[in-house]
Amino acid sequence: MPSFRPLSRIASAFTTPLTPADYLRLVNPLSSARQLRAVVTAVQPETADSVTIRFRPGKGWNPHEAGQWARIGVEIDGVRQWRSYSLSTGAGQDPAITVTAMGTVSTALVRGTRVGDVLFLAPPEGDFVLPEHPRPLLMLTAGSGLTPVMSMIRTLVPRRADADVVLVHSSRTPEEALFAEELLELADQFPGFRLVQWFTGERGRRLDLTTTSDLDAACPDWRDRASYACGPVDFLDAAESLWNREEGELRVERFAPVVAPGSGGEGGRITFEKTDKEVEADGSTTLLDAGENAGVLMSSGCRMGICHACVTPLLAGQVRDTRTGEVHGEPGHLIQTCVSTAAGPVSLDV
Ligand SMILES: Cc1cc2nc3c(=O)[nH]c(=O)nc-3n(C[C@H](O)[C@H](O)[C@H](O)COP(=O)(O)OP(=O)(O)OC[C@H]3O[C@@H](n4cnc5c(N)ncnc54)[C@H](O)[C@@H]3O)c2cc1C
Repeated sequence: MPSFRPLSRIASAFTTPLTPADYLRLVNPLSSARQLRAVVTAVQPETADSVTIRFRPGKGWNPHEAGQWARIGVEIDGVRQWRSYSLSTGAGQDPAITVTAMGTVSTALVRGTRVGDVLFLAPPEGDFVLPEHPRPLLMLTAGSGLTPVMSMIRTLVPRRADADVVLVHSSRTPEEALFAEELLELADQFPGFRLVQWFTGERGRRLDLTTTSDLDAACPDWRDRASYACGPVDFLDAAESLWNREEGELRVERFAPVVAPGSGGEGGRITFEKTDKEVEADGSTTLLDAGENAGVLMSSGCRMGICHACVTPLLAGQVRDTRTGEVHGEPGHLIQTCVSTAAGPVSLDV
């Protein structure tokens, strides 16, 4: 496993003369003119592979709206890596993220985070939020896709007598289901909240969203509800197709980028000019992944083309947008490296 060294644990590793910002950090790890930070206040196991990490942000943080997400940065093997995580607590509550171990950063967060650690972060963003006016709602989630919806449920259900929310949540087994006990309690306590847990292991099949029959059984009036969905790519693709066919109202939050069919291009040699590195990349490897794999210090954020934290000037060549398949680029253009692949030789100002 890569070594995860939150900021508070690397203070002793400074060997060169400290800058004023470094001294400030050693006195108060949340103080920095340059980078928003937070101190971890609790780490609570949720399932065998997921934890909720509560944190107290420093100056510059804005309270989150239910359903929003934040970029979280951690140092792994000396490189600061950024990923996006939905804030799972309700609006007005102290922020927390609920992370499921899956790859590099999530596994480091789940297995390595301790109370007192310091995380890098950016203020909350996103428009996967509750409707402005109360409406009957259907929440359709699978796996870790429950996290932004949990924030909405925690915000709405205990606080509004007129709440009318149905949650259909799919997970493999009861042991893998996030927030299971709390959801059962909420369903017991509040008549305006109904819970349908769909355990694929027990039912022997997945929730079928290619036809309306599973939804009709789980939530007969689903067509009359404002619907929200969050989960794996195929789950969301099926939900979007169904709602398009039925002309219903559906908001979707994706954790991974949409990839246009056949968008993999020719690839090419990528030159990272400032770092003085060159790598050969195929048409399905993003410029960001290619750079990181080669040890280039790349800016990154959501890794799905929504936050623009990764934009980098293109010096030469053209790139392919993995979401649309479109090939584009002129010298000087800003390129989103997380959703671009090389379309022939490319040179980047990084
Ligand atoms: C807006 C937003 C909100 C998010 N909220 C959460 C959250 O609340 N909890 C959480 O655990 N993760 C969340 N994610 C996903 C998170 O940002 C990381 O992508 C995830 O933790 C994997 O990162 P990694 O470094 O561990 O894996 P990597 O080593 O970067 O990649 C692992 C692989 O898993 C794929 N992948 C990423 N997420 C998923 C997923 N959910 N299901 C299936 N495959 C996936 C990636 O595309 C990649 O191919 C969110 C992502 C976005 C964009």
